[in-house]
Amino acid sequence: MRIASYEGRLTLLVDGGGIDVATATGGSFTPDVLDAIERWDELTEVAAGLRGPVRPVDPARLDAPVRLPRQVFAVGLNYRDHAAEAGIRELPTAPPVFTKFPVCVTGPEATVTLPSTDVDYEAELVVVIGRRAEHIAEGVAWGHVAGLMVGQDLSERKVQLAGPVPQFSLGKSFPGFGPTGPAIVSPDEFADPDALEIGCSVADWVLQSGNTKDMIFPVPELIARLSRVCPLLPGDLIFTGTPAGVGMSHTPPRFLRPGETLTTFVETVGTIHTTFTVGPGHDEAAPEE
Ligand code: ZN
Repeated sequence: MRIASYEGRLTLLVDGGGIDVATATGGSFTPDVLDAIERWDELTEVAAGLRGPVRPVDPARLDAPVRLPRQVFAVGLNYRDHAAEAGIRELPTAPPVFTKFPVCVTGPEATVTLPSTDVDYEAELVVVIGRRAEHIAEGVAWGHVAGLMVGQDLSERKVQLAGPVPQFSLGKSFPGFGPTGPAIVSPDEFADPDALEIGCSVADWVLQSGNTKDMIFPVPELIARLSRVCPLLPGDLIFTGTPAGVGMSHTPPRFLRPGETLTTFVETVGTIHTTFTVGPGHDEAAPEE
């Protein structure tokens, strides 16, 4: 099952377009995707029987599948090659966790204003929680997942790494810094949801290319560890970390530039495109704290 938000409405993606679920079910579902995720089992059952009407879907009008999640978790240094390029000698024994504040979440075809010249890309697999998860064992963790999305953990490195302690959450939460989509793809769509090619590029330049099987803490372990501390709620997002190749690791750093379009993909899930622009007041300096 592929669930999207099309023109702000809960939409089941099928061959040839999309089915507006609220219309097709005579109003038994509202157009709100988060409402539907609260009833994920019921939606799965109903969606299997929906045949139409199918209308064409213009990818440019897809929104973030979950526009305003209640919680957004993000994991740093979750791929060995990325930990190495970040200069980390010993692999983490527990996942470093931070948040991207939920207002930064945007859709799969977003235009994002660069607040400075130090904005970096991080291609990430994003997990959408489908069922409340509290003290969940790894073995049943996938059963609490509604689906997977493609994401970008955009990061303003000056703010992120400013002292006296790093400000991961702030530096990664400027407006539009959480592109997600194009749809929530349910785990049954994957031959192996723990081994997916992932990467991103600008024009013909491949910036990152990895596989989610190389995560230090795979999705079930992340859900188990997080749910031991915070109950995970339907619609919550987990940004699961990025493979090697981020802009900061280049000499000199290769940060995002106005006019560029970043293409990010995850095997079987799909592709998102993020275009960068500059706003009024943009200059060479990072924003002051
Ligand atoms: Zn990240």
